[in-house]
Amino acid sequence: MITTIERIKKLKKEKNAVILAHCYQPVEIDLVADYVGDSLYLSQVAAKTNADIIVFAGVYFMAQTAKLLSPDKKVLLPQMDAGCRMADMISLNQLKAFKAHYPDIPVVCYVNSTAEVKSECDMCCTSSNAVNVVKSMNEEKILFAPDTYLGKWVEKQLGNVEVVTYPGFCPTHLHIRPADIEKARKEHPDALVLAHPECHTAVSDIADYVGSTTGIMKYAKESNNKSFIIATEQGVVDRLKRDYPEKEFIPVKDNIVCPNMKMTSLEDILNVLENENNEMFVDEQIAQKAVKCIDRMLEVSK
Ligand code: SF4
Repeated sequence: MITTIERIKKLKKEKNAVILAHCYQPVEIDLVADYVGDSLYLSQVAAKTNADIIVFAGVYFMAQTAKLLSPDKKVLLPQMDAGCRMADMISLNQLKAFKAHYPDIPVVCYVNSTAEVKSECDMCCTSSNAVNVVKSMNEEKILFAPDTYLGKWVEKQLGNVEVVTYPGFCPTHLHIRPADIEKARKEHPDALVLAHPECHTAVSDIADYVGSTTGIMKYAKESNNKSFIIATEQGVVDRLKRDYPEKEFIPVKDNIVCPNMKMTSLEDILNVLENENNEMFVDEQIAQKAVKCIDRMLEVSK
């Protein structure tokens, strides 16, 4: 009997489709994915692909960003209900009100935001390139939305730019508290703590390394250390365990899981590939402005 995975692979070929999967997706999605990575990597892939259809196994803003970068392609999101709770914390009106408090100060938005929000920002960033993006602007002061913790982390890395942050956050990463790090360290004294900059500042301050998903995976691969406490989403732990079985990866605590990221199933992917439903559309005027904000980021990240 032909399996779901085989059917997906067959349809991908027939329809010239690619599947992009974020590292927070259920790990079995990688069995059908053509590209697996973080937001920056996947947006670079989306901008360059020759496929006719992009299936984005991730959350809404990611598929929307892929559509902005590849407007002529059909971009499909396997689960339309998979939003990002951080992106939902800022609407276009909330962004405008934030900007109104600081006239003439440029604004950087984290990629975890809607196309509408991006359309009113100067530059986009991901956690991989946030420091370089802000540095490239050569400003003394910038606004940063929606992730207050990423913004404050960037400020600390640069040291010479004031970063005024919007009060958004990732509920999944905010579950990680300094006491969790201390407990895990006591239990695993030889392990290094690797944390994502969406974590609370009090967590980033005591981690051995802070970086994006790609940064964490690269650090774990290249480090001579054998044991790591991972302070980010469970999907990263699952992939590290799979890719480097000779090393030990300990989740900082149980249940650091983004529920929206885990909505996607192989059946959902098969469904959108078969029916070409759940297609992304972006208002053309919004798209024209939003894509500039993303293009400026990609230029800096070349
Ligand atoms: S982990 Fe946090 S920032 Fe990432 S998609 Fe989930 S809610 Fe959004």
